[in-house]
Amino acid sequence: MVNYKDLGLVNTREMFAKAVEGGYAIPAFNFNTMEQMQAIVQAAVETKSPVIMQVSKGARNYANATILRYMAQGAVEYAKELGCENPQIVLHLDHGDSFEICKDCIDSGFSSVMIDGSHLPYDENVALTKKVVEYAHQFDVTVEGELGVLAGVEDEVVAAESHYTKPEEVEDFVSKTGCDSLAISIGTSHGAHKFTPEQCTLVNGVLVPPPLAFDVLAEIEKKLPGFLIVLHGSSSVPQDEVATINQYGGQLKAAIGIPEEQLRQASKSAVCKINIDSDSRLAMTAAVRKVFAENPAEFDPRKYLGPARDNVKKMYEHKIINVLGSDNKL
Ligand SMILES: [Zn+2]
Repeated sequence: MVNYKDLGLVNTREMFAKAVEGGYAIPAFNFNTMEQMQAIVQAAVETKSPVIMQVSKGARNYANATILRYMAQGAVEYAKELGCENPQIVLHLDHGDSFEICKDCIDSGFSSVMIDGSHLPYDENVALTKKVVEYAHQFDVTVEGELGVLAGVEDEVVAAESHYTKPEEVEDFVSKTGCDSLAISIGTSHGAHKFTPEQCTLVNGVLVPPPLAFDVLAEIEKKLPGFLIVLHGSSSVPQDEVATINQYGGQLKAAIGIPEEQLRQASKSAVCKINIDSDSRLAMTAAVRKVFAENPAEFDPRKYLGPARDNVKKMYEHKIINVLGSDNKL
């Protein structure tokens, strides 16, 4: 049993309370590789932002759960080495789908877990989430639940269509499970292809997707004032990165994300955590494709993973400063 506190990690409780109070949101960036970890830490330290480093089931399969945990421990030490005296770094399990995987993460040093029972019938979601909360809270680990189904693909989480969270269920779910925060469905979705062009409106040459269901969010805030809300699937799919990928041989068709203006608006509400994964994949891929196209003889991984790291770091900083507003909060 490893307690996250011994690794220098923190849970989400205090940072979420401050975020909602201060009208900003905490960035939750997924990571699988050392370069992403370095970029997350560099961006968080340079902007003085708390940060959530999250690990999906796919990341655990790809990188090995033990390695990821040591990388998070390394992230804390790296942040200190970069001059941050009091790093606020959370190691979070993204989309845990069973009690066992959540327990495994809690026992190995995670400071926060998500139990995603949103695919289950309501009562089973309640029971599973409650079981995880009861275990996690013994170790002061915070728990994110999920109500409502997001469309899209995130590793092994696949849903064809979304179902908005029902505000009337939120109050009941939270009181029965004791979860610390709740992921809701208000129109965000997983992956880089969140909307088809047919679903969008052409405004000044740009495809603008339908707005998020801010009315559902407002209704939830009314029912549970101050409760902590999480948005998944909130990449914006920067069109300059998509253009770079396609310019250098990629074939990303109609990749459309959530407009940053809407995420800015959400950050000022009860939304305390915003998940960004696809934008990191796009930023890294764009940089790698550019190096390969311009230097076809290059074969040193540092020469393409280095620029990938720099580009994704720039994206993280942009999100922290210009979208979520979590800079200068340490
Ligand atoms: Zn998600």
